[in-house]
Amino acid sequence: MNTTILPRIPPAVAALGEAMRGWRHHLHAHPETAFEEVQTSAYVAELLKSFGIEVHTGIAKTGVVGVIPGKAPGPWVGLRADLDALDIPEANDFDHRSRHPGKMHACGHDGHTAMLLGAARYLAETRDFTGTVAVIFQPAEENEGGGRAMVEDGLFERFPIESVYGLHNWPGLEAGRFAIRAGAQMASYDIFEITLEGQGAHAAMPHLGRDSMVAAGQLVGALQTIASRDTNPLDSVVVSVTQIHGGDTWNVLPQSAVLRGTVRAFSPEVQNLVERRINEIAQGIAATFGIAARVRYERRYPPTVNAAEPARLAAAAATALVGEAAVDTSPGPAMVAEDFAFLQQARPGAYIWLGAGPGRLGCLLHNPGYDFNDEILTLGASYWVEVVRRVLGEAKS
Ligand SMILES: [Zn+2]
Ligand SMILES: [Zn+2]
Repeated sequence: MNTTILPRIPPAVAALGEAMRGWRHHLHAHPETAFEEVQTSAYVAELLKSFGIEVHTGIAKTGVVGVIPGKAPGPWVGLRADLDALDIPEANDFDHRSRHPGKMHACGHDGHTAMLLGAARYLAETRDFTGTVAVIFQPAEENEGGGRAMVEDGLFERFPIESVYGLHNWPGLEAGRFAIRAGAQMASYDIFEITLEGQGAHAAMPHLGRDSMVAAGQLVGALQTIASRDTNPLDSVVVSVTQIHGGDTWNVLPQSAVLRGTVRAFSPEVQNLVERRINEIAQGIAATFGIAARVRYERRYPPTVNAAEPARLAAAAATALVGEAAVDTSPGPAMVAEDFAFLQQARPGAYIWLGAGPGRLGCLLHNPGYDFNDEILTLGASYWVEVVRRVLGEAKS
């Protein structure tokens, strides 16, 4: 951790540091992906029970919610962590490396889970607040929208949570720093698939077929004009083609080609515009080459938008721990996406980045050499404790 930042960690949270590290390493060694977090979920549920917390399991398949009432009744606040790992073969060889081939915790959700477990234990022991804390451990943050599944499975009907808070470790931001902005902090996440249907032919006699490959090549370039010509230059948007599939051999023009990719934006208006233009450009290119185009466009995650009051409370909680100079309240938004956005659509919420330093050997999120920075475990847990103190207040005696 940066030596100029001296976080005010409550001694009782600092004392949980070794335990959190142990849980984190166990989780890291046993990664599970979207909606298959069976062992992870059972591990979390057992620990919560051992802290004397009422536990609800099986929400959105593998989600877990722990309910911690304070010393007096009052409002409910939700603190959320994510349980899932990624389909990445781990490149590390340290002791807690993944035991599950092809899967690893490359986004630090093992650390998020350990930090929230630490906070839960502290909060269950002290209960020094007016109201109830729901600790939410959701499945399938990566790609599959476990956050949406939790909301659809009645998260907010079963637990009368009034506001929600989320946190992500952020390599590249100095360890010990926090960053949060009111408004859009992360982008929407849409996907598209374009099938170009031509007419297969001998590659030496292209005039006897309709070539889907040349059309695919033109389409990749043309799609880039959406960001440069169609959207307002002041609106951030990314259109990335990430896959091109077509053809099996040297001397055949394939019948069809498939392009897939992702779109990132910060508003429904821009999403609508991009979806319309992808369709128009695909149809236009197809017409130019005398072939057919089919477009599938799917909205996966909405933008992550921090409500004003929760964002202010979150920044104040971070400031109480590390001081004003170490909390950035106007970071540039990031084009990555987060399914915490679904919780924020249901209840006002705030999502904060916790600096994780340069990354182990420079490896950032989703890199096969990434590992969560254990040095920030106690700070992350302290953040949760401070959020509860600020949202619910100390118990009135
Ligand atoms: Zn991730
Ligand atoms: Zn993540």
